Amino acid sequence: MASKDYYEILGVPRNASQDEIKKAYRQLAKKYHPDANPGDPTAQEKFKEINEAYEVLSDPDKRAQYDRFGSVGKGAEAYGEGPFNGPFTGPFTGPFGDFGFPGIDDIFDSFFGRSTRKQEGPERGADIRRELDITLEEAAHGATKDVEVWRTEVCTACHGTGAEAGTHQATCPVCGGSGRVQSVQRTILGQFVSVHTCDRCKGTGKVVTSPCRVCNGSGYVRKKRVVSVRVPAGADEGLQLRLRHEGEAGLRGGPPGDLYIVVHLKPHKLFTREKDDIHYTTTVSFLQAIFGTDIDVPTLDGVATVKIDEGTQPGTTVRLKGKGIPHLTGLGRGDMVVHINVEIPKKLTEKERKLLIELAKMRGERILAGGFFRKVRDAFGTG
Ligand SMILES: [Zn+2]
Ligand SMILES: [Zn+2]
Repeated sequence: MASKDYYEILGVPRNASQDEIKKAYRQLAKKYHPDANPGDPTAQEKFKEINEAYEVLSDPDKRAQYDRFGSVGKGAEAYGEGPFNGPFTGPFTGPFGDFGFPGIDDIFDSFFGRSTRKQEGPERGADIRRELDITLEEAAHGATKDVEVWRTEVCTACHGTGAEAGTHQATCPVCGGSGRVQSVQRTILGQFVSVHTCDRCKGTGKVVTSPCRVCNGSGYVRKKRVVSVRVPAGADEGLQLRLRHEGEAGLRGGPPGDLYIVVHLKPHKLFTREKDDIHYTTTVSFLQAIFGTDIDVPTLDGVATVKIDEGTQPGTTVRLKGKGIPHLTGLGRGDMVVHINVEIPKKLTEKERKLLIELAKMRGERILAGGFFRKVRDAFGTG
């Protein structure tokens, strides 16, 4: 099997220092990383080669073996039958789990000992999201609602130190007070040095010798709070209200997160809402529709009188200006739209029936009622 020239692949001289090799690898791997060349098989092949070359040349033992024999006994260590047969073919579900290759930044951060995440500093607390149901009346007039929220707060007994009053914190024995620990992981890309937050002290660098009895030394307690939420007039389905600093406590002195209240509108038994207009359907009799009338309708602000014109058709709408929901901007209101339904009676008295048939005759209208009428009359023997 003809060996590849790893020096040529990385473009470095045979006597290149580890720094030169690293530098060359870093540039090339960035250039040919699959994330930077999606769907390009040539780049993938090249990336594989670069990694293979780096894996050998960055390891003094392997490099010496390669320099002497022109190849390296593959699979000599942790990679089974050959480091590049499995993980880099097909879907990239190799050593980095389902996400394929590590991200470009991850490679370099871990390779070169940099850490972009400064977990040991103060960290803002997480946001909390709560749903809040309001009625249409509350949306129309605004409301103050109490919302119960469980959240993590800094323990007031120990002020978040986790130490019982009067005791002191000691330097963390695991990380020596730095709050960070290094771990070295060997992968096909070489040796990964990753720095992460110390588990023992959670990055604070300090441990508690006699823990606070209130929070068991965690420095935090879970508390239920009742938060008073001002729902503005005009609030609609999906409106998000942000209450600053009402979220989870921050870490290591960081500020708390925010509380987001997501407004949901309960259905109303009389009205439906469309933006800031409300719709209401009322029914008048056919006679009221013919002659016109005044009717009382409920509104968000009490009863209003609506004039039904003479000859009103079914489906007619009457708009009551400014009787809708106030605009969230605080300026102006929507309208109330009254839909007029005309009811046709299904049951008539004999007298009503007679009158209406008379009317139909006068108007020369062809109706079915005549035959039916007679039948009814025969049945009742009214002759
Ligand atoms: Zn405490
Ligand atoms: Zn520690």
